[in-house]
Amino acid sequence: MSSLSQTDPEIAALVGAEEQLQADTLRLIPSENYVSQAVIEATGTVLQNKYSEGYPGKRYYEGQQNIDPVETLAVERAKALFHVDHANVQPYSGSPANLAVYLAFLRPGDTVMGMALPMGGHLTHGWGVSATGSWFRGVQYGVRQDTGRVDLDEVRDLALKERPKLLFCGGTAVPRTIDFAGFAEIAREVGAVLVADVAHIAGLIAGGAHPSPVPYADVVSTTTHKTLRGPRGAMLMCTEEHAKAIDRAVFPGLQGGPHNHTTAAIAVALKEAATEDFRAYAHQIVANAKALGQALAARGFELVSGGTDNHLLLIDLTGKEIAGKPAAKALDRAGIVVNYNTVPYDPRKPFDPSGIRIGTPALTSRGLTEGHMPIVADWIDQVVDAARKGDEEVVARVRAEVKDLMDAFPAPGLSRLSA
Ligand SMILES: *Cc1c(COP(=O)(O)O)cnc(C)c1O
Repeated sequence: MSSLSQTDPEIAALVGAEEQLQADTLRLIPSENYVSQAVIEATGTVLQNKYSEGYPGKRYYEGQQNIDPVETLAVERAKALFHVDHANVQPYSGSPANLAVYLAFLRPGDTVMGMALPMGGHLTHGWGVSATGSWFRGVQYGVRQDTGRVDLDEVRDLALKERPKLLFCGGTAVPRTIDFAGFAEIAREVGAVLVADVAHIAGLIAGGAHPSPVPYADVVSTTTHKTLRGPRGAMLMCTEEHAKAIDRAVFPGLQGGPHNHTTAAIAVALKEAATEDFRAYAHQIVANAKALGQALAARGFELVSGGTDNHLLLIDLTGKEIAGKPAAKALDRAGIVVNYNTVPYDPRKPFDPSGIRIGTPALTSRGLTEGHMPIVADWIDQVVDAARKGDEEVVARVRAEVKDLMDAFPAPGLSRLSA
């Protein structure tokens, strides 16, 4: 960090403060994680200095002697890990990856069907405020009010009525296993391309802790920075049939030069994800989420769908007589980082919804196990209760207790503090 602190002490100080914050806090945002030191090192390399529009062996720039093998390694590792015919590792992030899928298969105005954002879907699945919902005709399915789960009969009825060209499954606040085979059947029935957006659960799939969308989905879209524990980036994977369309859509359709330092870090993360240790990690994420869900339910918290099959819990705080936002803010003051979130059929507004969303990928990266989950649930319970009563003493006490536990479980990749 010495060059950075000399050149730009303001930024260096903020990076240092962020590292301290990530060390001291219990990070429960389900889309966040701690990457390994090796992944961080790969992102901070001279590969950043290169331009390489095109694909390995077919570049528009000379000087690709080292870049081509980097990208080829990333692609081959993705293919082996996810058992796919084809992988494109160039999308800058999950949203551009999804936009590339539209470009590959749709014309403006065509119909896309995905899960509604307030039901747990993602903006890029055709939601109105996103380009995908304004340039295309978005139709949305949800979850059942009584079960909190997707009902494939409802999805089929809507698909038969609306005849989408593209059908998305997956989302950002889905605590339950996705039935990829069931979605594939519906997609085939209506002639839609099925996209499995596994951004949140890619690491669980890689580690065998969630069923794979392969061979059911035509295209698998994923970010690389959530449970997969890689750098900020994305991948599109597909059958040989769609390989050309996907590649052309990413480049030159949507993007220019790939971020080669990110590609290298993706390759590193994929190598890590192919290990036995990572399989154990993926299963531990789920075991922790289930244990945390049980401990929260025992303390009177209402879990959407009644629990979880994966890394994520969606909590409806209505019964606790507090909204999601004040609860999330109090938890943040207590060193427990979550996000406020809509719950299905939320009577409140999206910017002030009824729930919070939590997940176990980051705490599992630090080595916490099932035995710690009742402690975590207790903290959440105490802080939510304190937030309702305006008791900042409890919040401060929990913050100190959280830091003590976090100190005992150092996070990977926080080199500055361990150095
Ligand atoms: C996170 C996420 C994305 C978008 O990823 P960004 O990298 O934030 O653009 C897309 N789809 C789903 C389901 C996600 O959870």
